[in-house]
Amino acid sequence: MDIHEYQAKEILARFGVAVPQGALAYSPEQAAYRARELGGDRWIVKAQVHAGGRGKAGGVKLCESEHEILDSASDMFGQKLVTHQTGPEGKGVYRVYVEGAVAFNREIYLGFVLDRTSQRVMIVASSQGGMEIEEISAQRPESIVRSTVEPAVGLQDFQAREIAFALGIPAKLMQQMTRTLQGCYRAFTELDATMVEINPLVITADDRVLALDAKMTFDGNAVFRHPHIAELRDKSQEDPRESRAADRGLNYIGLTGNIGCIVNGAGLAMATMDTIKLAGGEPANFLDIGGGATPERVAKAFRLVMSDDNVQAILVNIFAGINRCDWVAEGVVQALKANPVDVPVIVRLAGTNVEEGQKILAKSGLPIIRANSLIEAAERAVTAWKNDVAQNTKMRAV
Ligand code: ADP
Ligand code: MG
Repeated sequence: MDIHEYQAKEILARFGVAVPQGALAYSPEQAAYRARELGGDRWIVKAQVHAGGRGKAGGVKLCESEHEILDSASDMFGQKLVTHQTGPEGKGVYRVYVEGAVAFNREIYLGFVLDRTSQRVMIVASSQGGMEIEEISAQRPESIVRSTVEPAVGLQDFQAREIAFALGIPAKLMQQMTRTLQGCYRAFTELDATMVEINPLVITADDRVLALDAKMTFDGNAVFRHPHIAELRDKSQEDPRESRAADRGLNYIGLTGNIGCIVNGAGLAMATMDTIKLAGGEPANFLDIGGGATPERVAKAFRLVMSDDNVQAILVNIFAGINRCDWVAEGVVQALKANPVDVPVIVRLAGTNVEEGQKILAKSGLPIIRANSLIEAAERAVTAWKNDVAQNTKMRAV
């Protein structure tokens, strides 16, 4: 789960990371008012979206008067900001953050990520901040410092100092730097984050170590342990299809093809999508209905998949271990009777109570295409989808 820059700064500040003074605004007028409250004569207006790369995309503006703040904020509000991290559809700007502009001498990159190979938190830092980490690793790979933290003892001060030395931080700023590193590490582990990134962390003209940007991502499966983090979720920044699914306790990933997939388990989802591609199709999404899929849950899944206009065929692929095929079949029949769909539906069931499941589908009188193996299901889905599209095109031409 992602949060906004201003929220990440608020959290990190509580862990001892120094951040500039700033204030949030929901309109251009409020942004100007906030700047007046902050005082000073140079401000940075920053679009709050769940994506980096805002600076290059017009989402971070230096302003030297209230007038400029009004203008810059007006340009941002209500727009879709497209950065290299948002995808072409962009992300809507509904909040801006106003900060005092800070004079600085150096920009540092600082990231905390989960390194799956070592199964530890890894600190990634570079003296070449300001650029994205991908750019740094392409252009200045030698500037990158990596350090993994031994979980039994946590981040040690000597280790933090080693990182600081490697970045060329002067001795007089050592304490501020280790405090920043320790703060990020504690926030990361105590709040079940999967990523903390400060880019840039700057050394100001008056010798302060200050986080000018902040990004935090949390483990979605752990936010229930942190209600104050869960509250920060901003649905305006999410794919609406995925938010709707999350609200219903389903795991949904939106994609760009035409075949909707209802499956149980992430592994089966991957295999199903691979097989659809092998058969010449493209998945529109996948929806994981999880372990105990009751008919109600399957019906919900169907409604959700059908709410995506790109879906021109639905493939249901269930391997029932804990699940029961008869329940899933019941769910498919209920869903299709309550909300008939005008696209082909292909169902492949395997595992517990498969015969009962097949009988329910057969007896339903619904035009469900059945398949026994995964490859057969994918091929039938692709063929049915192509035929259906061809027929619709012909009908439109007539
Ligand atoms: P993004 O990473 O999304 O482009 P940043 O918050 O990193 O957004 O801002 C882009 C750049 O703007 C920073 O690299 C920094 O040079 C400058 N900047 C951001 N905030 C401030 C600030 N408060 N004072 C001065 N410069 C800033
Ligand atoms: Mg940045």
